[in-house]
Amino acid sequence: MINVTIIPILEDNYAYLLEGAYGQTAIVDPGESGPIIIAIGDRRLGLDYIFNTHHHGDHIAGNRDLSNAYGAKIAGPAADAHRIAGMDIELREATPFDFGGEKMKILETPGHTSGAICLYFPESKILFTGDTLFSLGCGRLFEGTPEQMWESFQKIMALPDDTRIYCGHEYTQDNGKFCLTIEPDNADLILRMNEVDKLREENKPTLPTTIGLEKKTNALLRAGSAERFAQLRKLRNEF
Ligand code: ZN
Ligand code: FE
Repeated sequence: MINVTIIPILEDNYAYLLEGAYGQTAIVDPGESGPIIIAIGDRRLGLDYIFNTHHHGDHIAGNRDLSNAYGAKIAGPAADAHRIAGMDIELREATPFDFGGEKMKILETPGHTSGAICLYFPESKILFTGDTLFSLGCGRLFEGTPEQMWESFQKIMALPDDTRIYCGHEYTQDNGKFCLTIEPDNADLILRMNEVDKLREENKPTLPTTIGLEKKTNALLRAGSAERFAQLRKLRNEF
């Protein structure tokens, strides 16, 4: 099983340190290097891979430092090879990648950006969604249509409900306030928000969430159609 350590970085981003079999290590979405170098040092680890879910600076700005410091190989969406400097490995949906004794499957999930991918480890039942899916929300549609994002959600929702989701930002509380305006009587959502409020009060991450929980609580994921999703995403932008 792959061990995941949550590393808060920048204002509200998360990077994730992965430790798999054979002592293999990776970092997901290093938007800066400082806190990650400290976390790796504390654990007396090295770094084999850097996985990027998409090309935005808050997910890749630490790439260069970390590859220089540890010789880590940079792996990112093949579609973003032209805009992620120094990419060593191009990830594609058709080609699972071996990491830490497991298969890492790639889901191509355009919508937030055209190249965005999610990283899925079926054996460990963990999914890294970057800015495609957040807990109780989703990324803005910078380079994609609502239809594309909705299609991307279908790929995610097809995974087992007990898959744990690690996303790119701690936006859960604000997202949830919006969801409550859409579904004020959703008992699962109310319960989740009580938990979220408590966690944030203690300055703890609200992640991981699970696919099952998001299906019950995330208004954007629950839209039911691309058309309704487009309406909700617009309302969320104006919220
Ligand atoms: Zn982004
Ligand atoms: Fe981001």
